[in-house]
Amino acid sequence: MSQKTIITRVRVHGHPYIGQVNGVDSWSDDPNTVMEWLCDSWRYRFNTLRSREWKYWYINEDNRYNTGVYPTTGEPRVFKRKSLNDNPDWRSDSEIRADVSWCESVPAMILHSAEKIEKTEWITAVKRRKTLRERNLNPGAYPGFKRRKDDKRFVSYHKNGSCSNANLTLVNKNHGYITITGRNKVIHRYEDESLNWCIQIKVKLTEEIRDYTSIRVNWTKRELVFTNEPVSCLRDDDPMDGIIGLDPGIAHFMTDSDGNYHDLPVDKLKSIDRRIRLLQRAQSRAMRMAGYDNEKDYRKAGVSRRFRNRETEIKNLYKHAHNIVEDYAQKLSTQLVREHAIIAIEDTRLANLMKSPAPVEDPLKPGHYLPNGRTAKRGLNRLLSMSRLGAFRDMLVYKAAAAGRVLIQVPSAFTSQVCSECGYTDAGNRESQAVYHCGKCGCIMNADVNAAVNMLLYAVALLNHEVNQGDSILNVTRTVRTAPGGAL
Ligand SMILES: [Zn+2]
Repeated sequence: MSQKTIITRVRVHGHPYIGQVNGVDSWSDDPNTVMEWLCDSWRYRFNTLRSREWKYWYINEDNRYNTGVYPTTGEPRVFKRKSLNDNPDWRSDSEIRADVSWCESVPAMILHSAEKIEKTEWITAVKRRKTLRERNLNPGAYPGFKRRKDDKRFVSYHKNGSCSNANLTLVNKNHGYITITGRNKVIHRYEDESLNWCIQIKVKLTEEIRDYTSIRVNWTKRELVFTNEPVSCLRDDDPMDGIIGLDPGIAHFMTDSDGNYHDLPVDKLKSIDRRIRLLQRAQSRAMRMAGYDNEKDYRKAGVSRRFRNRETEIKNLYKHAHNIVEDYAQKLSTQLVREHAIIAIEDTRLANLMKSPAPVEDPLKPGHYLPNGRTAKRGLNRLLSMSRLGAFRDMLVYKAAAAGRVLIQVPSAFTSQVCSECGYTDAGNRESQAVYHCGKCGCIMNADVNAAVNMLLYAVALLNHEVNQGDSILNVTRTVRTAPGGAL
C-alpha cells in the first residue's frame, strides 16, 4: 500500500512564485522556503474544503452544544446538524488560485489532491466514531482543521504520460529523485527566466518502489511516502470476458463496437442551456436599460440586486450541467470497465473535434450552402462533452488499471476512413457525417460504429502481435475479421 523513504536533499530549478509576502510579490529558489510554501498552500486548500463539512452535535437541556460528554444509555439523544465553520468556503481550485496569491502557482496535482485526502480522512473519522459509539465507547472528537503547528505536509498525485508529475527517476539502487514541475503565470515571471520551474526531491530508497498513485510528503519529518490506492470498482459477479472498441465523439458521447450509442442526457442539458441563454439575454437587457454598452462599466457603476441574483443562477446552472456530465462519465466508465476485459479507445486529439466542418456549397443553388452539421457542434452540450472526453479517458485509464483490465489507446489517424469490413481506405468514404459507404465492398454502416469496430480490430491485432503500439491503423490486416468465431 505505501512505501516510506527519507528525503535527503531538495533542489529547486527556477523561481516559483510564492505569492505576496508582506504585500510584496515574492519568488524563491530556497528549498526550505519552497517546500514550506507547498505545504502551507496545501493546508490552506485542505482547510477550505474541511470548512464545508457538517457534524452532528449532542444538545444539552439548556440548548447548548455539548461536545465533551456523551449521554449514557436511556438518556434522550438530541442531535443537531451544525456546520464545522460558520462560513463554509465554496471556492473552486481556480477561484482559490485567483483569490489567494500564494496558491496561484501551486501545481494542480498538489492543490487538487487536497480534495480527496480531506474527504477520505473525514469519512474514515466519521465511520470510526460511529462504530465506537455503537459499542458504547468514547468516540473521540470530530476531526477539525489542520493547524500551523501540525506537521507540514502535502500530497501530490502521480501522473504518467504527456503532462507527467511526481515521477521517480532512479540514480542508483539506493537513491532516486522525484520531480515536481510547475509554472508561474505570465504576469509573475521571474526576471528573464522561463516560466517553468521544477523541484527535485532526492530520496533514499531501501526497496524497489512499486507502482504508485500519489506521493505524500511530510516536510517536518523529512519523509516521502509512495502510496498506491487501489480504486477497484469491480464486483465479485462481474464477467471477465468481453472486448469492446469505443469511438468518442460529439454527436454521440461514445459509440461502441457492438453498435450501441452512449449519449449524455441531452434533453436535460438542453433545457439548462435554454435557461442560461434566457438569463443571459435578460442580463444584457438590464445592462442596456441602465444605459451601459459594456458589462465592465455597468459593474463599476454598481449592478442591481436582480442582476446579481441572475448571475448566481447562471453560475449554478453551469455547475449543475457540469455535474450531470461528470456523473454520466463516472457511471459509464465504471460500467465499461466492469463488463469488459479489453477496452480499445481512440486517442482522439480534442483539437480535431473542435474544428468546425468545412462549408459545402449547394450544387443546385450557387451561393447557398448545404447543412454540414455545424449547428450541432455548437452549444452547451458540445462544450461539456468536449471538456469531459479527456477526463473520461483518464477515468477509464485508472479504473482499468485498478481492475486489471487492458486498455488500448488507438492512434486516431484514418480510423474513420478505413472500412471495418474489408480494410479499404478512402478519404471519400464518408457520404455524410453519419453514414459510412465503402467504395470497394459496398457496405453501408454508421460512421461512428465503423470507427468503433476499427478500434476493436486494432486491439485484437495488437494483442496478437500483428502491430506494435503506436502503429497506424492502416497496418491492421483484416484476417482477424474473417476468422470464424469472431475477433479472438
Ligand atoms: Zn469495405
